[in-house]
Amino acid sequence: MAYQSVNPNTGKVLKSFEKLTDEQLEKSIAAAETCFQTWKHTTYAQRAEIVDKAATLMRKNVDEFAKLATLEMGKRIDEARGEVRFSADILAYYAEHAKTFLAPTKLNPKVGEAHMENSPFGVLFCVEPWNFPYYQLARVAGPQLMAGNVLVVKHAGCVPQCAIAFEKLLLDAGAPKGAYTNLLISHEQSERIIDDPRIKGVALTGSVEAGRSIAARAGQNLKKTSMELGGSDAFIVLDDADLEKTVPWAVWGRMYNAGQTCCAAKRFIVLDSIADKFLAKFKTALSELKAGDPMDEKTTHGPLSTEGALVQLLKQVDDAVAHGATLVMGGKRIDRPGSFMETTILTDIKPDNPAFRDEFFGPVVSFFRVKDEAAAIALANDSDFGLGGSVFTKDEARGKRVASGVETGMMFINNIDWSDAELPFGGIKDSGYGRELGNMGIQEFVNTKLVRTARLDAPA
Ligand code: NAP
Repeated sequence: MAYQSVNPNTGKVLKSFEKLTDEQLEKSIAAAETCFQTWKHTTYAQRAEIVDKAATLMRKNVDEFAKLATLEMGKRIDEARGEVRFSADILAYYAEHAKTFLAPTKLNPKVGEAHMENSPFGVLFCVEPWNFPYYQLARVAGPQLMAGNVLVVKHAGCVPQCAIAFEKLLLDAGAPKGAYTNLLISHEQSERIIDDPRIKGVALTGSVEAGRSIAARAGQNLKKTSMELGGSDAFIVLDDADLEKTVPWAVWGRMYNAGQTCCAAKRFIVLDSIADKFLAKFKTALSELKAGDPMDEKTTHGPLSTEGALVQLLKQVDDAVAHGATLVMGGKRIDRPGSFMETTILTDIKPDNPAFRDEFFGPVVSFFRVKDEAAAIALANDSDFGLGGSVFTKDEARGKRVASGVETGMMFINNIDWSDAELPFGGIKDSGYGRELGNMGIQEFVNTKLVRTARLDAPA
């Protein structure tokens, strides 16, 4: 796939980029390896100065970064600004806390003394998706640069300008050449990078399909990976939920980023006694969203990232209906230029329908009624995915009980996936493994080594 920047609001090609030749790629990897040999010896304070400066530059140029994301992948401008600020927060967070997170820890053996100490792996290969074109990069760059690793990064084919802007940001902040390198490369070149002995770890955020392929390749090379993959998060509404508060979360949970979020609310599981009321209010709220230019502050419903994404989603909805689902609203492309999908609600999705298991990456609600709390948990768990989920109830103890019963990496009570730099993010099952953000995120690619001192005689 070519690296091409296309405005999904108009379909107009903005810019195209040549892929790297193998020779250019080799130079990039060699520069990263050379950089690591000095970067690993820098102090936390020296690294923090650069990473924190990058945060400051992002905050100073919020509009510039945000507009690029809106142009390239259609994110509504206020959401794009929020993403840029959050990315800056992540960089600043690791600049401040990395030293504490990676400080040696003392152990208490019966004989002598011992401690664990951390050192970086080396050059990491990161593969990232378009849906959060800066946040996904900050999630790896912040912790890994602070840990003393260096990164070579393959961003998604449709956001080359954001990818280049982020690399420039780090160079402008003073990062040495090779500390963070953007690579415009093919999948085939990616596979060869994974095989390269200079690469010591691989991080992917993307689809399950990409996860299987990249993790398998890294596995053949016995390289550590972290996998942040898809999701089909349950949004559970218990019978005592406050619908005035719950319905706006349902709209936000499904429609944020035009529904293209790994941990978006995708399966709405509602207790029977409250289901009709919830569905009526949800449908009204969704129908009030206004499709328009994502650059316009008044727009509440933006385009999908690409025409290809729209075509795939329309096909998934058609398949769902062909397999017996009922279309309550939407289901078609919006009659205007650009790649816009109507807000859509599907009900009567039975387990033999592909829609029961698939991820809908866009403004499509899968709606389910269940008789009680236990049935809600069972249905939430009847998924190949295990990323996040949420539960809405006035009774927090009940919310915590449901949260404990759902098999995912993250659960949210009376809010949905309100992510913060200090909270670990990640899933289980087909949603992947490993964590980004928080203290856990910086531990993924460090060697935590045991050092023991003891005056012991060798056994005879
Ligand atoms: P995708 O097709 O898997 O693409 C993601 C990245 O992987 C892109 O850079 C893509 O490059 C690259 N890629 C895909 N297959 C590859 C291969 N065989 N070799 C090397 N690189 C490969 O995912 P997407 O559909 O664009 O993104 C959405 C998916 O990401 C959804 O499933 C979403 O849930 C998931 N996601 C997960 C998280 C999380 O934290 N768990 C966060 C955000 C998104 P090209 O663009 O060049 O193909």
